Order: sequence, then structure tokens, then C-alpha cells
Amino acid sequence: MPNYKPKPRKMEKFCVGCEQTKPRHEFYEMTRGGLSKYCQDCHRLGMSKYHNMKYHSEMMDFPCLSHAEFRSWLDQQPRVCHYCGISLEDTGREGDSLTIEKLVPHLGYVPENMVVACWRCNKVKGDVFNEQEMKKIVKEFDFIHRPVNNGYLHS
Ligand SMILES: [Zn+2]
Ligand SMILES: [Zn+2]
Repeated sequence: MPNYKPKPRKMEKFCVGCEQTKPRHEFYEMTRGGLSKYCQDCHRLGMSKYHNMKYHSEMMDFPCLSHAEFRSWLDQQPRVCHYCGISLEDTGREGDSLTIEKLVPHLGYVPENMVVACWRCNKVKGDVFNEQEMKKIVKEFDFIHRPVNNGYLHS
């Protein structure tokens, strides 16, 4: 038997997030063509956020944990928003509703300074409010608590 496999590689792609080779259909197609560097699982889990975090950190000269550190950090996070407590399990196609938050912006992406948050809280908080203020806002404006039922996550 010749040791020849008929081009199985074309059907598979290496994911930079989980560092596994997966079937191509487990990757999203990018709007600009080609496949995402991260598999769908990595998008869902938030692993694909690393790319932007790293870029942002370099631009702003913040510290940023390594890809491997980010993966183990992410593994340990509760799958709920740090501020409003909404479940982040169903994060949509691009994982849009899950964001990685810096508690104190200029301290950068280091594990002690990071939490997972829904995109809505992330947007409201921005770099304007601190952690305590943000929790107060969530409490007083209970609207953030209801997105799943109101379909905000699926709009
Ligand atoms: Zn992956
Ligand atoms: Zn939230």
C-alpha cells in the first residue's frame, strides 16, 4: 500500500485559538472572504477576542497576557456577565455579546484586571465608569438584566 492520502488537508484548518486542526466547516467565513483564524467554538467561548486585545494593548502600550494565559484564564471564568449577571452562553455568531473588560483601563489585560462582561455593559461602562459605579448603574437601571427574554442578544 503506498502511503498516500488524497489531500485530506484541504478539508481541515488549524485554529490559532484552541490550536487544533478542525474541519473547515467548523470555521466561519469572513465577510471579506476566506475563513476565520478561529474555529466556531473559539468564537463562542471568546477566544477570538485575543486578537483585538493584543492589538489594542500594543497601540496603547498596555500590558497584555499571552495567548496561552488568556486561554486558561477564559477557561476559569464564569459564563456570566460580571456586572449584570446575564448568561453569556449564547453569545451569537461572532461571540458579540461576550466582551473582555479591563476593570481599570490603563492596567491593561492582565488576569487580575480582567472580567467577562456582556457587550451591553461593556458599552455602557466604557472607560467612563469604574467597577463599583457600573454595578450601581446595572442595579438602578434594571433594563440590562432582561436582554435574553427581550431578544437583544439575537437582534
Ligand atoms: Zn478553536
Ligand atoms: Zn452585562
